[in-house]
Amino acid sequence: RAKKAGRNNYATSKAELHASHFEHLQLENMLHNAIAGEQLVLYYQPQVNADTGQINAVEALVRWEHPEYGIISPGDFIPIAEESGLITEIDEWVLRTACWQNVQWQRKRYEPVKVSVNISTQQFMQKNLPNKIADVLADTQMDPTLLEIEITETMVMQDTDLSARQVERIRHMGVKVAIDDFGTGYSSFQYLKHFPADTLKIDRVFVKDVDTNDNSRSIMKSIINLGHELNMRVIAEGVETQQQLLQLRHRSIDDIQGFLFHKPMPAAHNWEKLFRKPTQ
Ligand code: C2E
Ligand code: MG
Ligand code: MG
Ligand code: MG
Repeated sequence: RAKKAGRNNYATSKAELHASHFEHLQLENMLHNAIAGEQLVLYYQPQVNADTGQINAVEALVRWEHPEYGIISPGDFIPIAEESGLITEIDEWVLRTACWQNVQWQRKRYEPVKVSVNISTQQFMQKNLPNKIADVLADTQMDPTLLEIEITETMVMQDTDLSARQVERIRHMGVKVAIDDFGTGYSSFQYLKHFPADTLKIDRVFVKDVDTNDNSRSIMKSIINLGHELNMRVIAEGVETQQQLLQLRHRSIDDIQGFLFHKPMPAAHNWEKLFRKPTQ
């Protein structure tokens, strides 16, 4: 494209390229320092039983607490981390920290809850991922059955054979696997056949208008039934209203994750109260 363009155009695009390249390097550098300087923190969002409200699990969600810019959300820095390859380091840190935190909670004799960790495509496609998970489990003395790894359909579709092998090796250790953002990817049901995943997480887009839109309701019902037929725990993401909750309960959803119950909260939050069994 540069060759076809005139001299001026070329100069402009080169300048732009330089600027973006510079900014990129700067961001990359900042992110690198963030990892080393302990600016990354994990928030945890509870996943609750739709009928009792009891916490079954928490999802670990990373945030970047920048000394100048404040809290930066993963949507703003995960893509940069993926491009630069720093994501592998971040994902490993997240995994290790989430396991460490879970063990701390267990030591305080809280009711056992699972912790769910998002894994990037790059990390998921690395053949040594199961070994890395095994190392972290051993180092932190984490109970493998309390760990869940979240992957997306889009990842799976990139290489179904490798994905199936990875999932098998991960589950062989006793670690659970969840399919995240279900319904937003290619959604070919074909792959589910080869995927003995434990949890199906229905994306927020289907939850959003489940109380007002007949089609959304039908789709929701079908996905929940599909998950149950395949012996999966089915969970709805992004539940914000009581009406949505009622509709989901009515369709036998297992678990709920959303602001209606809990927002993501830092580890320093008073979890003791939340993790206790509801007294009634
Ligand atoms: P996700 O895994 O689908 O996580 C759920 C997102 O929905 C979280 O956003 C959460 O705060 C938000 N959410 C939960 N309940 C509600 C609700 O009721 N309403 C609304 N509007 N939003 C809700 P967050 O924390 O900004 O994370 C965004 C995405 O970034 C995650 O989507 C995940 O794909 C990625 N991500 C987060 N942490 C990590 C991580 O440690 N590693 C990797 N590789 N990706 C991560
Ligand atoms: Mg997730
Ligand atoms: Mg999700
Ligand atoms: Mg989502």
